[in-house]
Amino acid sequence: MQGLIRVAIDGPSGAGKSTIAKAVAKELGLDYIDTGAMYRACGYKMLREGIEAVSSDPLRDMLGRTDIDFSGGSVFLDGENVDDMIRTPEVTKMASACSALPEVRAKLVELQRAIGSRKNVIMDGRDIGTNVLPDAEFKIFLTATPEERAKRRYEEMIAKGMEADYDQVLADINKRDYDDSHRELDPLKKADDAEEVDTTYMSIEEVRDHILNKIKNA
Ligand code: C5P
Repeated sequence: MQGLIRVAIDGPSGAGKSTIAKAVAKELGLDYIDTGAMYRACGYKMLREGIEAVSSDPLRDMLGRTDIDFSGGSVFLDGENVDDMIRTPEVTKMASACSALPEVRAKLVELQRAIGSRKNVIMDGRDIGTNVLPDAEFKIFLTATPEERAKRRYEEMIAKGMEADYDQVLADINKRDYDDSHRELDPLKKADDAEEVDTTYMSIEEVRDHILNKIKNA
């Protein structure tokens, strides 16, 4: 294949986007860009600096001195590896809240487009196919029922030795689905030219192979 290959993977929380994107990236030698991790890193910095999730001068000042990038599969905030800091429930809530702010989206979308313009990438998020890379060569919209997504998240947390309550995980997923798809800016939405893949009854390998075949047969 000639030219840049950009694969956009969008969908709600817990649909398996990052697991699938990583597997496809490995197979095809693409760089995996987790845009949710960028909103998380931003939310983490806001919490650390005591900045509220509203449009404000302190927020704009903070964004002006913020750099977020990827290296070796890890996310770096101002040069510091923050992989282990950005998955807490507190950061998860802040990431969701800050992702509704125009200043935050403008900054992160600019960074994401810059990354996508110079290398072969598979990028996952909520607005990649609709907004960040509208001319991506491949667009996938991954879904699964909220119950299935909650079950996967719950099992992942238990496997990591974290405390988890299934009903709470499901309630959080439903709230994030609502917030992500009802916000004014770049809401979670399937691009008209994206293929929707419902993963509720599919294994990770089946979803991975489906996407690999689509790309290889193009
Ligand atoms: O995917 P993940 O759960 O890590 O994303 C964290 C938050 O970042 C989500 O709740 C979503 O609101 C936001 N997000 C976004 N646009 C993206 C990726 C994530 O608004 N492209």
